[in-house]
Amino acid sequence: MTPAVRTTCPYCGVGCGVVATPDGKGGAAIAADHDHPANRGRLCSKGAALGETLSLEDRLLHPEIDGQRVSWEIALDTVASGFRQTIERHGPDAVAFYVSGQLLTEDYYTANKLIKGFLGTANIDTNSRLCMASSVAGHKRAFGSDTVPGRYEDFESADLVVLVGSNLAWCHPVLFQRLEAARHARPSMKIVVVDPRRTETCDIADLHLALKPGSDVTLFNVLLSGLAERGVADRSFVDRHTSGLDEALAAARTTDPAACGLRQADIETFIDWFARTEKVVTLYSQGVNQSSAGVDKVNALINCHLLTGRIGRPGMGPFSITGQPNAMGGREVGALSNTLAAHMDFGAAAIERVARFWRAARMATKPGLKAVELFEAVRAGRIKAVWIMATNPVASLPDADAVREALRGCEFSIVSEAIRATDTVDACRVRLPALAWAEKDGTVTNSERGISRQRPFLPPPGEAKQDWWIVSEVARRLGHGEAFAWRGVADIFREHAALSAFENEGTRDFDIGACATLDDAAYESLQPFVWGGGPDRRFFGEGGFFHADRRARFIATTVRAPVNGPEESRPLILNTGRVRDQWHTMTRTGKSVRLAGHRPEPTIELHPHDASARGLAEGDIAEVTSAWGRGVLRVHVTESLRVGGAFAPMHWTAQVSRAGRINAAVNPAVDPISGQPELKHTPVEIRRLDMRWHGTILARRAVMLPETSYWARIRGAGYHAYLVAGDQPLALAQRALSAAVRTANPGPWLAGEKDVGAVVSDGRVEAVMMVGPTYQADARDRFAPFMALDRLTTEQRDALLHGGTDMHRGGELCACFGVSCGAVEAAIADGATSLAAIGATTQAGTNCGSCRSEIRALLRSARLVKAA
Ligand code: SF4
Repeated sequence: MTPAVRTTCPYCGVGCGVVATPDGKGGAAIAADHDHPANRGRLCSKGAALGETLSLEDRLLHPEIDGQRVSWEIALDTVASGFRQTIERHGPDAVAFYVSGQLLTEDYYTANKLIKGFLGTANIDTNSRLCMASSVAGHKRAFGSDTVPGRYEDFESADLVVLVGSNLAWCHPVLFQRLEAARHARPSMKIVVVDPRRTETCDIADLHLALKPGSDVTLFNVLLSGLAERGVADRSFVDRHTSGLDEALAAARTTDPAACGLRQADIETFIDWFARTEKVVTLYSQGVNQSSAGVDKVNALINCHLLTGRIGRPGMGPFSITGQPNAMGGREVGALSNTLAAHMDFGAAAIERVARFWRAARMATKPGLKAVELFEAVRAGRIKAVWIMATNPVASLPDADAVREALRGCEFSIVSEAIRATDTVDACRVRLPALAWAEKDGTVTNSERGISRQRPFLPPPGEAKQDWWIVSEVARRLGHGEAFAWRGVADIFREHAALSAFENEGTRDFDIGACATLDDAAYESLQPFVWGGGPDRRFFGEGGFFHADRRARFIATTVRAPVNGPEESRPLILNTGRVRDQWHTMTRTGKSVRLAGHRPEPTIELHPHDASARGLAEGDIAEVTSAWGRGVLRVHVTESLRVGGAFAPMHWTAQVSRAGRINAAVNPAVDPISGQPELKHTPVEIRRLDMRWHGTILARRAVMLPETSYWARIRGAGYHAYLVAGDQPLALAQRALSAAVRTANPGPWLAGEKDVGAVVSDGRVEAVMMVGPTYQADARDRFAPFMALDRLTTEQRDALLHGGTDMHRGGELCACFGVSCGAVEAAIADGATSLAAIGATTQAGTNCGSCRSEIRALLRSARLVKAA
C-alpha cells in the first residue's frame, strides 16, 4: 500500500489541506486533511473531485519546437540563445515572463530572480494581476505594505460579516461552509452581501445590497461619513495610528448615495449595523478588485475599518480573499512587475539590497510592464521574446483575441505547461512540458498568509520537469549557473526565507527568516503555519503600520465613472466570474465527469426584462458583442441580475466551445494604479441568433463536428458529449452530424422517434444523437444512463430511441453523489421540506456542501409555487 501524502489543493486561495493516497496505477484517492487549519476536514466539490483530474490524457510530455518533438537539450539551448540574442540586439526590456498563481513559491522565486536579477528587466507579471493587484495596491496605500491583517477565524468570530464582490459560496466554498457553520452556531451573527447579482452567497445574507455595478466607492464613502456622523470613530486609534482622515471624510461627504441605486432604508440599515457592531469583518474579492477603480474601492472599505479602529483584533478587519492557490506566494516573492522581491519595492535601497543578496549580474532598476500592457507590448513588437508559465492568457486575459494575435506574431514565444491542448499552447512556438499538481514539490501561501507544503504523490510523467528546474537550466546556459545551483526546492525555500529577513529588522511585514535554517527533513515535514507571528497574531491591532511614520493612511476616494461605460449601442454591462464546479480555463476540472454536470455549457445570464426586450428565451443561442470581440453562448434568464446586467462564466476556451471564450469580448481597461483589468464591467449588446436546429450527441469516440454556429464539448463517463446548434436547414444538419458521428463511431444506425438516432453495436450504444428544431435541455441527462450499459435489453433500446425517464432532468446538482435537480425536485414533491430531509432521501448536500445553496433555492421556489 502506497503511503498517504499530505498536500494542498491547487485551486482557490482558501488553500485546503488534502490527503492523497496513490493507487499504484497512476491515480489517487483524495480526502480532506482533518489537521489542516484552513479546512479541518472539509473539501468543496472541486477539491473532492481532484482524483478525477490526474490522468495523463491531454498532457504535454515532451519538449516541442514548432510542433516537432525535440530533446530537453535542444529546447533549453533554444530558449537560452533566444533570450541572449534578443537582449543583445534589443536590450533587456525586449523580453518578458508571464507567470501564474499556479506556480509554487519556489518556482515563482526562481523565475523572479532570473529576470529581475540576471536578465536586467522587471518585465515579469503574474496572472494574479487579474485577481488581486488592486488589493495589493490598496494595502500599500493604506498600510505601507501589502499585508492581509487578519485570519480566517476572524469571520467565524465576527458579529457582522460584510461580503463585498464575493460569491464565497461558489468561489471559496470551504470558507463559505465555515461561515455558514459559524452562523448556524451563533444565529445572532449578521451577514451583509454587497453584490449587483443575487448569488448563492446571498442565501445566508440578512441584507443583500444589490448595488449598481461599479458603485462600491459610493457605498463605502457613504458608510464612512455615516459612521462619523453616528459618532463611532475610534478617536484614540485614529489619532495615534493614522493620518489623512479629514481629507477622506471631506471626499466621502460629497458622495451622493443615490448613485448606488439602492433603497435609502437599506443603506441606513447597513450603516446602523456597521456602526453598532464592534466585531466586523469586511471580506472582499474579485468584485472589488477587477475594476478600473479597484484600488479606490479597496481603500474606501479599509477607511471604514481605520475610522472605527476595527483592524488587527480577533473578529474584525478588512480581509482580501485571493482567487488562486498561490497568489499570496507570488506577492511574497515579488512576481508582480511593480514589486521587487520579499515585499520590497523598487526603491534605490531595496534594489541595492536585493542585488547584493542575489549577487545579481544585471539588476532590474525600475518596475516592468503589467499584464495587459505587457501583451500590448508583445503585440506592438516592443517585447520580442515572451515566456509564459502555467497560465493560459489567450483564454483568460481581456480582449483575448488581441493576446492570441500578439503571441502568434511574436518572434519568440515559449510556454511551460502541463497540458498540451490549451489556447495558449496552440499559439506558442516552444513548448516545455511542466509537472502538474500531483507531481510538484514546494510551498504555497493561502489568503490568510498560511504557508503549506505541496508534496508530490505521483511520479513525473514523460519528460516533464518542474518549473524551477527548467528556469534554472536556462539560467545556467546564460552563464548564471552559480546563482541557480540549487539541489532542490528546500534550497530555494531557504534562500527565499533568508531574503525575507535580510536587513529587515522589522521594517518589512514579510519575514520568514526562521525558515532559512530548516534542514531538508524539516522542510519535508513542514507543517502549515501563518507567517507574521503565532496563532493569535494579527497585524495592526496596536498600529505599527509600515509607512515611514508607522501610521496608516486614510485615502480620499472620489467616485469615478467606469472606464468604457455603457453606450447607446451597447447598453448592457457584462460581468464575468466563476461557476461552482469549474476552475479557471478548465484544463483540470474539465477532466472530471461529475464536475461537468453542474454547468455543462457556457451561458450568458440576463434579467427577464432584458431578455424579453431582445426576444430571448431560456435555452436560446445568443451573440454577445462588445467593442473588442464576441462570444456565442446559451441564454439563461434569471432574476438574480439587475436590469441592465449580464453575467458570463470565464472558464470556457476554444478547446471546449467554439465561441464560448467570453474574454474575447471583455473590456481591457485597467485600474490606473494596480493595472488590474476591468473584468466585471464591459458594455455589450446581446442578440438572438436564429438557430434552425439544436442537438445533443453522446459518443464513445470523439466526433469531428462539421462547421456549426455553436458547439460545446464536455466530459461524460466513457464518452464525449456535444451540445450543438446551427442555422443550416434541419435535414442538412441531421445528415452531416449523423455522418460525422458514424465516421468516428461505426456500426449499425438505428433511427428513433423525435429526432433521435443511435449507433448500437453488439447491443452497446456507441453513440446517440438528438438533433431537432427545438432545444431539449434534458437530452444529455436522458441519454447518459444508456452509455453506462454494456448491453441494451429490448426495452432499454426502445426507451433510448422512443423516450425514457426524466429523473435526471436539469443537470447535476450534487457533484459528490451525482444527484440531479430532477431528483431533488422529486424529493421535495414527495414531502421533503428541509436540507436534512433532502439529504436523507437523496444524499444531495451531505458531503462537501457546495450545492446546499442551490438546494435551498429549489426549496424556496417550491414554497413560492405552493403559495401562489
Ligand atoms: Fe480547493 Fe475547494 Fe478548498 Fe478552494 S475551497 S482550496 S477549491 S477544496
